Amino acid sequence: MNDNVLIVEDEAKIAELLRDYLSSSGFTPHCLERGDQVIDWLDAQPPEALPVMVLLDLMLPGLDGLTLCRRLRERWPNMAIIMLTARVEEVDRLLGLELGADDYICKPFSPREVIARIRTVLRRTHPVTPAPDTGAPESSPLVLDHDGWRALADSQDAGLTAVEFQLLEVMFNAPGRIFSREQLMDHMYRDHRIVSERTVDSHIKKLRKKLAEIWPEREVIHSVYGVGYKYEPLI
Ligand code: CA
Repeated sequence: MNDNVLIVEDEAKIAELLRDYLSSSGFTPHCLERGDQVIDWLDAQPPEALPVMVLLDLMLPGLDGLTLCRRLRERWPNMAIIMLTARVEEVDRLLGLELGADDYICKPFSPREVIARIRTVLRRTHPVTPAPDTGAPESSPLVLDHDGWRALADSQDAGLTAVEFQLLEVMFNAPGRIFSREQLMDHMYRDHRIVSERTVDSHIKKLRKKLAEIWPEREVIHSVYGVGYKYEPLI
């Protein structure tokens, strides 16, 4: 599974907001403004680069979201689709039409909500099987896919950003070792950019939250009071 997400939205501000949030959440967004550009654009993509997800606005110039959703379903049944609509009442109508969209989001939405919905839909539509060549022992419930920058917890992609992945990887490769915030910063920012220790804490917090979405009962990253953090594998 790649990280490509196609945003089809004619309101520039919304498209821009979605694009920014998707990129900072580790996705690779691409935006189109018109409904009638979509099929041609998808046809021009190499199969491995086809987006795993399309965020599709309902009201679009050229070709409306409803028609487009049906056509996408016929051509690319594995592509997840989330419809964006302007009104809550629309959702009931859309559900009745059985367009085959995987989810519906009403505007105005919070970007956080959109990302959470995307992850939920992708988990359902693209269950991940860990690659056999990751080097991790088979029994490990956490597998890091170094080339794909993905952390798989019980085979589910935790959806980490690049920074979160790097942080996890550093600790994962030295189980039980305590890392100070400064050591973690050195690994994260090879260009020695000045960031505060709070930045590390905030990335760790997000990383833990994402892992907790998959493993609400378990904890693999532990705080060591006054020192830093360590990774303890689950047994
Ligand atoms: Ca629109």
